[in-house]
Amino acid sequence: MNYKRSSALFAQAEMVIPGGVNSPVRAFKAVGGTPIFVKEAKGGYLYDEDGNRLIDYINSWGPMILGHAYKPVVDAVVDKAKKGTSFGMPTEIETKIAELAVSMVPNIDKIRFVNSGTEACMSAVRLARGFTGKDKIIKFAGCYHGHSDSFLIQAGSGAITFGTPNSPGVTQGTAKDTLLARYNDIENVSQLIEANKDEIACIIIEPVAGNMGCIPPKNEFLKGLRDLCNANNILLVFDEVMTGFRLARGGAQELFNINADIVCFGKVIGGGLPVGAFAARNEIMNYLAPLGPVYQAGTLSGNPLAMAAGLAMLNELNNDVEIFNRLEEKTAYLHEGIAKVLSDNNIVYTINRVGSMISVHFDEGEVVDFETAAKGNNETFKKFFHGLLNEGVYIAPSAFETWFITDALTYKDLDYTIEAIDKVAKTL
Ligand code: PLP
Repeated sequence: MNYKRSSALFAQAEMVIPGGVNSPVRAFKAVGGTPIFVKEAKGGYLYDEDGNRLIDYINSWGPMILGHAYKPVVDAVVDKAKKGTSFGMPTEIETKIAELAVSMVPNIDKIRFVNSGTEACMSAVRLARGFTGKDKIIKFAGCYHGHSDSFLIQAGSGAITFGTPNSPGVTQGTAKDTLLARYNDIENVSQLIEANKDEIACIIIEPVAGNMGCIPPKNEFLKGLRDLCNANNILLVFDEVMTGFRLARGGAQELFNINADIVCFGKVIGGGLPVGAFAARNEIMNYLAPLGPVYQAGTLSGNPLAMAAGLAMLNELNNDVEIFNRLEEKTAYLHEGIAKVLSDNNIVYTINRVGSMISVHFDEGEVVDFETAAKGNNETFKKFFHGLLNEGVYIAPSAFETWFITDALTYKDLDYTIEAIDKVAKTL
């Protein structure tokens, strides 16, 4: 494949944008080579500036669950744009999407919209602290909750590949209030709670981790967290920025039948526009300004275009009773296909999957936490990534990311991908 124009555009971007990108993982630092500049996308495919077509397994890191340029979403945005793009005043559509989200997700009464997943998680933690009157939080090594200061402590996603889990600029004062636990290790969480008795406001977790590859919670792990939270007056915060409206209508809460106290959303809920949200029962949400003392605000929060995109997306997901089964079946088909060709080619691997989130790890042991995820062979991953790119298949440019399957992919696309992986496996 030729990336001449992408290379030229990257060089131009580097002159005026730090690293040439507006979010670090896009720079391909973990895999080397030239970042690909996208011209447009439709359904399951990206079309780049050099005219290459790529089957897309990232889908804007999750939001495009029904494929790119999905007509009902695009139409809703275009329609709204003609009527004004921002008012900074209440609009009816905010209530409509809120009503729909509350009807789809278990155990929430109210939802507040923000502009990103980062804002959602940051605000959820402030609310948890305000509500409980406690300062410390527990997060899990390898989980990513956005780039706000309290979360950049052994964070996943781009923060891992840059080797700076503790970013300069995060103060010791902030870091001391974030306690780190091992994913899937309930004993470890229990010990942290004991050692910090009556100081912990919340435990924040990706109920299926997606930022150190895809890591499912072990049986009873989430239930164990729920029990510990109940016993210690700690709020359980599910960061469902990836899993929300993807793993089930009601997200991971529904899938695992565990109630969280606060739930964070992003990605799918905005249909590809910048949207995040956090939600909880009345007693917690009523602590937020203007009803309560915990401050949170946003000039563009509830933006009409973003709400139109999100409402159109949620309506589609709510009305299509088969969507989550279909996504699961497609991803299971891909999972089996990849496992077969990697085994046939004697590659050492582990595949993790929950619903339409899947990741391939080049290591043979179980991948259950940050430590085991970090054991994967990165050199093999780099070759795998570039080999697939050369075959027109785009996976995340980092071994620490989940692939997101979109409903726009056909079984023909999946077969093509499995064949491409077979070809690439022979070169590893
Ligand atoms: N939480 C999770 C689980 C995420 O995966 C991400 C982003 O990938 C975020 C929070 C942050 O969301 P955003 O990038 O929209 O700020």
